[in-house]
Amino acid sequence: MPAFEFNKEAKVVAAAAERMGLHPFPIPMLRNSVPYNGRAACIRNRTCCGYACPVDAKNGTQNTVIPKAIESGNCELRTHCVVAEILMDGMRAKGVRYFDENNEEKIQTADVVVVAASACESARLLLNSRTSLFPNGIGNNFDNVGRNLQSHAYTGAWGLFDYDILELNGPGATLGISDFNHNEKEGIIGGVLCTEFYVLPYGFSRARPPSYPKWGREHKKFQRQNYRRMVRLHGPVQDVPTPGMRVQVEDSVRDFWGIPVTKFSGSRHPLDRKHCQFLSEKAASVLREAGAKQVWMNVGGLGRAGGQHQCGTCRMGDDPKTSVVDPNCKVWGVDNLYVGDGGVLVSAGGFNPVLTIMALAYRTGAHIAGEFAKKGSAA
Ligand SMILES: Cc1cc2nc3c(=O)[nH]c(=O)nc-3n(C[C@H](O)[C@H](O)[C@H](O)COP(=O)(O)OP(=O)(O)OC[C@H]3O[C@@H](n4cnc5c(N)ncnc54)[C@H](O)[C@@H]3O)c2cc1C
Ligand code: SF4
Repeated sequence: MPAFEFNKEAKVVAAAAERMGLHPFPIPMLRNSVPYNGRAACIRNRTCCGYACPVDAKNGTQNTVIPKAIESGNCELRTHCVVAEILMDGMRAKGVRYFDENNEEKIQTADVVVVAASACESARLLLNSRTSLFPNGIGNNFDNVGRNLQSHAYTGAWGLFDYDILELNGPGATLGISDFNHNEKEGIIGGVLCTEFYVLPYGFSRARPPSYPKWGREHKKFQRQNYRRMVRLHGPVQDVPTPGMRVQVEDSVRDFWGIPVTKFSGSRHPLDRKHCQFLSEKAASVLREAGAKQVWMNVGGLGRAGGQHQCGTCRMGDDPKTSVVDPNCKVWGVDNLYVGDGGVLVSAGGFNPVLTIMALAYRTGAHIAGEFAKKGSAA
């Protein structure tokens, strides 16, 4: 499938980046640039990220792998269910206890259990599943489950131009610059800069040059004049994994189904801030070269991880003392329990994570299928 063309602002930024010796590229996106598999091409709405797609051009499990799995005849999909606990028989998983769409408690037995509830929720599920052999949660005998939570520190800069530069032909983000990824000479681990998704006017109303009024007449005037004149160049910075930044469960606070809730603690590594400062300065220099009349930075890297790119809580490794899953994403110490989500990533890396999560999930699936083919069971 061909990449999406750069939009107007990306063309301006790309030309500037190339003048600086950088290598801008079109961002790989999970949306159809041309009709594909009976579904339409993207019609380029301004609202994309965070909204349902009106023409089914955006790809997700709901219109790709799940229909295929159901077609195979080997998959039954149960929606609106919440798993509360993984059930064990000694060192083997034997199924799950869950609440169905009517909130009725049910048991489902299984030969293999794959936990794929996201980095925070998978850690919660493992921690909430306790037996005499795993008193602190399954896979947690070395106190690794839930630790090293990461989610990328976002950072970058804004540029204000003196002409209408935003095309507003969605979804906005089309260009990436990854020249600073693993730039060890200058001290950054990983990170990419991208032109940003368009935001609706209310979202834009928070973005103002420093010390500019954020309310009142001047604020409204700025909003009217400059909505199409500001470009944001920013992106994810690879967090430094930190054991103290973690997900735990809190037995004294329960959700609707009586399941102990997630508790977050810890904070980012101090280097995250330094790396964000570095990448924000690079973004600012590109925007200046692109002709922005005013440039200001928004430097990330403070506070807690755990946002939209959450990962790391069930990290993969080759030593059960320092990791949760083995190189095949199987939970150490349990014969037939796997993790199939962002939790297994050891590091968030310098880019948005979903393609890596998907690649690992396919790899884990192939491993489980291979084990079945060999032995008639996954373990
Ligand atoms: C607004 C937004 C924009 C993003 N944009 C990008 C992007 O452009 N590029 C990119 O690479 N990444 C992007 N991400 C990140 C990406 O979506 C995530 O990294 C990825 O979806 C994580 O995959 P996962 O399998 O770990 O978890 P999820 O995709 O979160 O899947 C977990 C599933 O488990 C279900 N679940 C949770 N708990 C339970 C339970 N107890 N019982 C039963 N089911 C449960 C959840 O409902 C969910 O369906 C974005 C995220 C957000 C929120
Ligand atoms: S911009 Fe996003 S939501 Fe709109 S058609 Fe394209 S993929 Fe769908």
